[in-house]
Amino acid sequence: MIDDGRIGSDCSVFCGHCQLQATGSVVGALTDDDPPISGGLYLVRCSHCRRGVLVEGHFVVFPFGEDENDYASHLNTLWPKVQSTLSHLVPGDLQRAYEEARTCFSAGAYTAAAVMVRRTLEGVCADQGVTAKVLMRALQELRDTGKIEGRLFDWAQALRVLGNQGAHFTGQDVDREDAADALALCEALLDYIYVLTIRYEEFMQRRKPSP
Ligand SMILES: [Zn+2]
Repeated sequence: MIDDGRIGSDCSVFCGHCQLQATGSVVGALTDDDPPISGGLYLVRCSHCRRGVLVEGHFVVFPFGEDENDYASHLNTLWPKVQSTLSHLVPGDLQRAYEEARTCFSAGAYTAAAVMVRRTLEGVCADQGVTAKVLMRALQELRDTGKIEGRLFDWAQALRVLGNQGAHFTGQDVDREDAADALALCEALLDYIYVLTIRYEEFMQRRKPSP
């Protein structure tokens, strides 16, 4: 049945257009369950970009709530989804670590996202045979051995979340901006090492005069 009971309700959804968790309002609903739990497909308008997001899930109306507007929603975004931006050339375990960082970021878990970025970068260093244990030292080693360029290292150094041992319990949460910067650096570094460098080496190989 088409249920318009939830139309106009506010909810929290992951907007694939904005790539962030946003508030939205239900503009269309297709459900087949009865209250207090109404599950189904919902079309939600993101309050950030005003575009439509298709979600599935349910609204739970609290039995002892003030009125029918006292509810919780558990909604999964079906469209548009988080887009993976990494090349297939990036090793699988590093891709998974990076995607997990993005998933944390999308859910608004910025401290967890920063922790996953550190983990990804540590993975890159290990994969590249770096021996230094502390992340900043390890990145320095990547720079000194010519595996990353100076600007990437300077960028990493400038990121507070990477420098202040964000993985440890400091009582300070990571904010959205810092987590977004850390993700951007992580992606640039993966691209540099696994895409640009490999393409460049292949290119140089092809240009070598055959003996
Ligand atoms: Zn949006």
